[in-house]
Amino acid sequence: MNDCVFCQIAAEKIPCFKIYEEEDFLAFLDINPWVEGHTLVIPKKHYRWVWDMPEESVGQYFAVVNKVANHYRQVFKTEFVMSWIYGFEVPHAHIHLFPNSRGKIAFYPKEKLPMLTNKEGEKLAAALKLK
Ligand code: AMP
Repeated sequence: MNDCVFCQIAAEKIPCFKIYEEEDFLAFLDINPWVEGHTLVIPKKHYRWVWDMPEESVGQYFAVVNKVANHYRQVFKTEFVMSWIYGFEVPHAHIHLFPNSRGKIAFYPKEKLPMLTNKEGEKLAAALKLK
């Protein structure tokens, strides 16, 4: 979809702080994070909701989410990588990952961190990148 911000990120028409990429999926830092390393994992193809994805793609999608989550468990030296599926703000399927989030997120977090600047985002994405 032309006016979808995550479709534009997937098509590299607008930039993101990339963490991991496969042919059909992409993980990048949330620009306005709840916790450090807050990451979104998306299918590049547009679906409004995660639940709209065809059954044959869901396993591969979850394998990518699993890969990034386990990478963060190592990098952040924690068991805790919490996750949400929301979709209030951006109408393109995405799964939120919150590394090292124990005690930082309750049922609904109180406050987001400041928006990532280019410098912060690039530095963090370089440190967290999954090759
Ligand atoms: P939600 O749709 O409620 O699950 O939340 C969408 C998330 O996308 C929010 O946490 C936003 O901060 C994040 N977001 C929106 N635009 C961008 C962008 N251009 N790059 C990275 N994250 C974004």
